[in-house]
Parts: sequence; C-alpha cells; structure tokens
Amino acid sequence: MSFDLPIEPPARVTGWAGDRATGGGGTELPVFYPATGARISTLVEDDACAVDQAVIAAREAFDRGPWPSLSVPERMDHLERCRQTILDHVDELARLECAATGLVLRELRERHMQRAAYNFRFFAEFISQSAGQRWDQAPGFMTTVSRVPVGVAALIAPWNAPVALATMKIASALAFGNTAVLKPSEQTPLALARLVELLQDVLPEGVLNLVNGRGPVTGAALVDHPGVDLVSFTGGTQTGRTIMAAAGRNLVPCTLELGGKSANIVFASADIDRALDGALLGIFSNNGQQCLAGSRILVERRIFDDFVDRFLDRASRIRVGDPLADGTELGPLASAAHRDRVLGFVDTALADGGAVLTGGTRRDDLGEGYFVAPTAVTVPDNSARVAQDEIFGPFATFLPFDGEDQAISIANDTRFGLVSYIWSDHLPTVMSVSERMRSGVVWVNTPMMRELRAPFGGFKTSGVGREGGTACEAFYTEERTLTIPTHPPPLRKLGA
Ligand code: NAD
Repeated sequence: MSFDLPIEPPARVTGWAGDRATGGGGTELPVFYPATGARISTLVEDDACAVDQAVIAAREAFDRGPWPSLSVPERMDHLERCRQTILDHVDELARLECAATGLVLRELRERHMQRAAYNFRFFAEFISQSAGQRWDQAPGFMTTVSRVPVGVAALIAPWNAPVALATMKIASALAFGNTAVLKPSEQTPLALARLVELLQDVLPEGVLNLVNGRGPVTGAALVDHPGVDLVSFTGGTQTGRTIMAAAGRNLVPCTLELGGKSANIVFASADIDRALDGALLGIFSNNGQQCLAGSRILVERRIFDDFVDRFLDRASRIRVGDPLADGTELGPLASAAHRDRVLGFVDTALADGGAVLTGGTRRDDLGEGYFVAPTAVTVPDNSARVAQDEIFGPFATFLPFDGEDQAISIANDTRFGLVSYIWSDHLPTVMSVSERMRSGVVWVNTPMMRELRAPFGGFKTSGVGREGGTACEAFYTEERTLTIPTHPPPLRKLGA
C-alpha cells in the first residue's frame, strides 16, 4: 500500500536572512513523508556563518527600525496581514505541514492553521489593550512604567505541531516590537519555511528570519549568538537544559515549554461517556504526539474494568491510515526512529510487570510509513517507566486508584508537571483535587481547552516560564521606569 503525497514540496529548503536566502554551509538533510517513508525534499542546513547572517538581519531591523517604534495601530495592521496571509494559504500550508509531519490533513486545515492565523489576531488585539502605569506618590514627581521591546528573539520550535506552535512565538515576539530568528525542527521545516517566505511580503525586511538545521549545529549557534537578546524554546526537557545553560552564559532571558507525563484522572462520579471521549482525545489526537497528552489514565478502581473495556473497544475502532483521507483519525508517527522508540516502550512495560491491553505493534499492512496501532498498557504501579517517561505517541498507560488521596499522590508522582485532567461531577472532589495538582494547567471535564490570555506552561521539569497573553508581554518586553518632576523641587546643593 502506498499513499499519495499531499503536495509536491520544493526540492530544497533554505532559510531567510533579511531579503535573501541564508548561506547554508552545513550538511544537506533529508525530509521524509511519514506516511510512505519516501524522501521528499532536502533541507539545507545553516552553519554558524549563515546563522550570523540571519541574526545580523534581525539586529539591523531592530536597531535601525522602524519595527520596534511603530505605533500600535501600525503593528496591529501588519499582524492582521500576517493572519490574512495564513488564511489565504491554508490549504498549501496544511499540505506542506502534512508532508513533513504525517499529521491528518483535515486537522491541519481545520485546527492548526486556524489557530496559527488566530495567534496573530490575538496578539494584535492584546497590544491594543496594553497600557503602562503611572505613579504620583512622590510629591512633585511623576513616575511612569512603560514596556519596551527587548530586541532579537531566537525562537526554537519542535516537530509535533510546527506551525501552530511557532506562530504563537512569532506573533507574540513581533507584536511587542521585537524582531526574530526562527529555527524549526530539522524534521519538519516545510510549512514554516513557506510561511516565513510568504510573510516577507507583509513584514518589513529583517523582522522575521529563518534558519534551518539540527539542534546541536544551527540551534546551538543561534542561542549562543551574542546578537540574540532572548530565547523562546519549545521541545524536550533535556534540550531545555542545554538551552537554559547557553542562555545563562549570555545572561539572556529564556522560556522553556518542555515535556509532560500528564495524569488523566477519572473518578466514578464523572460523566463517564464524556470522560471516555476526553481520555481518547487526550492520548490519540495529534497522533499522540503532544506535550499535553493525558498519557497516564488513572481510573477509580470500582469503574476501572468497565472504563478500560470501553476505551479498548473505541481504541480498536480508531481509523489509522492515509493522512489525506477525510475519515482518518490517526496518521503515522513523525519518523522511523520515533516509531521504534515508541514501540520500544512495550518491552519496557512488560519488563516492569505490565500487560499490553491493545496495540503495541507496527501497522505494516499500511506500507512503509511509520504507522503504529493505538496502544494501551497497564502496569502494577506508577514507578514503571511507561508511567514515568514521556513516550510522545499513541500510547496510554492505565493505573487504578482508590480515593482522592491516592489519585493525587499518583498524579503528582512524576518529574513532569505540565497539565492534569480531572473528570468528576462532584464539585468538592474537583476543587480539592485541582488545588493539589502540581501542574501548570488543570483541565476539568474537558480536554485541551487553551485560553490564550491565560498562562500556559509547566511545573517541575515541564518548563520554565509561561506562554499566553500577559506572560508573553512580560517575557517579550523590558520594563522602563521614567521619573520626571512635575513641579521641580529644589535639589540639595552639595559643595555650595
Ligand atoms: P527537541 O528538544 O529534540 O527539539 C526541539 C527543537 O530544539 C528543535 O528545533 C531542535 O532542532 C532544537 N534543538 C535541539 N538541540 C538543540 C540545541 N542544543 N540548541 C538549540 N536548539 C536545539 O524536541 P522535539 O523532539 O522536536 O519535540 C518534542 C518535545 O517537545 C517533547 O518533549 C514535547 O513534550 C515537547 N513539547 C512541549 C510543548 C509545550 O508547550 N510544553 C509543546 C510541544 C512539544
């Protein structure tokens, strides 16, 4: 079996430094279509010299302007045109994203690209509401605090939802007056490369630049560059440590949106049909490759067997296959190496005394693509590696619990702390459990509802800092305090 390519991508993909392509200079890297395993394009890796070109372009656009000093309505106008550009190219961008990620095309068109467009509208509206502060406490003086752009932002994105996640960074960095250099994942550069190309017609030269390549080569050169003033990173926890160390060396602020191993807690007091829908979405949407996946499903013991049976029945009916087909619910994983890593956790679960409930295998009947069957396991306790490590695939781990205290103790027994899901219609249970969750976000009776004004980010090793309206404003601006006498009092006269 073989699947059609969603679009013919460009033969070679390069970055952008100001008004020209970056110099490359690094290795040529293959880009594969995950649904077939075929090589479909070549990424030209940017070495340190090429990264330097991109940072210089961003630096000049910041230092010479006019971007940082544009009026709010002018910047809003540019952001609105970015949004419209995405909406005008939804199909093309979604197909390019599909070609590199294997994500389901319908989801990319209807959710990821709409969200990407909305990110620009959200921050355009946000800056229209922003205000500074003024204090007059010291008699005869006025003190104001205003927020000014920081400078050149390095934006580093992962492969699991490239456009949707990177546009949150691009829109917020630019909205607050910064210029930016984006580095997408080397696995999934296609749609972001096209988007940055399209946005060159909308933004002044040098405001948004792009470098491509592997993390330790291109990414490291970018975060180490002395012309970079702040770093926004989304990716794995280990990479986050490396990036924070680099930012520390240069003393520039960074935010880290990292991994998760989130608990999805189902109480017997829940609307079970809704909890079941939520549990399936929490672990199988976006091909299971989500930082916020509800990957540990904790179910109250008296409903455990029934809930698991119903989950397995639904999981076995999930339509796995062609990302271009309308009915597909689960596409291939992003790479062959990632598929093998995910399936490697089956042996881990068995070695830790667990059992495979469903899946745990490749879907070789679908050809050479990186397909796996929706997978669920159960393990004796939460110390099992499948309950502790981020798997980042369509792989659920079930654990039973007795009562609130045990649910909370299992849920918090992890080095991660990104999100938690609670399913219960009993308000005291919801309140007492949600208040004791050690995670940055708690979703009650709903999966994955992201309010962009609210901060999003993790406790513990799930991150440092937050993304979202006010959190982005705090990160992408410096506060400047200005004090001026309104009725100048006489000064003390030293030496008079
Ligand atoms: P990754 O850490 O391997 O790579 C992320 C990005 O960092 C890529 O662009 C990569 O090239 C770059 N990179 C790698 N090493 C680097 C270095 N030394 N210096 C600079 N850049 C470097 O992560 P991934 O595999 O692409 O993405 C999956 C991970 O991202 C998962 O752990 C997932 O949980 C996490 N994630 C988190 C969120 C969130 O909001 N918290 C969202 C999506 C994904």
